[in-house]
Amino acid sequence: MQKLQREMIKREYPLQWKKKNFSIKIFCSIPNIATGILLKAGKTHFVIDPGDGILRDLNKEIGVKNLLDISDVFVTHGHHDHIGGVWSLLTYLRVMQKKTPLTIHYPEGCVEIESIYNAFAKVYSNSLSYKIKLRAIKKASSFSTNEVKVKPFPVIHKENLSSGRTRQVPALGYNFSFNGMKICYGGDTAYCEALVTHAKNADLAILEAGHDEDTPDEMHMTMNEAISIGKSAKKYFLVHVPE
Ligand SMILES: [Zn+2]
Ligand SMILES: [Zn+2]
Repeated sequence: MQKLQREMIKREYPLQWKKKNFSIKIFCSIPNIATGILLKAGKTHFVIDPGDGILRDLNKEIGVKNLLDISDVFVTHGHHDHIGGVWSLLTYLRVMQKKTPLTIHYPEGCVEIESIYNAFAKVYSNSLSYKIKLRAIKKASSFSTNEVKVKPFPVIHKENLSSGRTRQVPALGYNFSFNGMKICYGGDTAYCEALVTHAKNADLAILEAGHDEDTPDEMHMTMNEAISIGKSAKKYFLVHVPE
């Protein structure tokens, strides 16, 4: 990528978008380091991709009371830069005596989330004040939670294996609709038709541009691919750009 172009797209986090009573704040989205996103729909708070630092950012942004009321966490995939903060978030909620249930939505086959949950349950099952519901998403059908309509969709995101081969990671993007407005978050993905479809006409599309070259691959989007999709939405953010 040209140095000039890199400078043009360089953004300072957090990134924020708000329309009426629907808003989203991206605390961070740096590949291999951390992602952390807070969605607000009316009085409801959802956490999306709780990477490292999410507890610190949530505490500063919404405070303890709202943190204890969080009902849903949405995970796009199990890479550490998207789930590194799960353990501390779950433990904090236990220490602060959360009472209401917490649902973690994640793509079926995401062994990282299930492993963290199993380890957490092993350590804390005798002293847990709240119920954790794991919800593995098998099909890309929509559902509603707290008046927000959620539409998961499969994306293309591969990772390297030690054998030198690659494998497709269980990976989703999510559309969140509330009060007639729609936010599309693609997670980590290569260019794919599902994302093209779901980003179209969204009030906001959050698109990764994590591939640092102009030749497409099956892990991340190039800057041009992300921009081409972003233009079909009313507004878009490019995130996950290598620093
Ligand atoms: Zn990532
Ligand atoms: Zn990833």
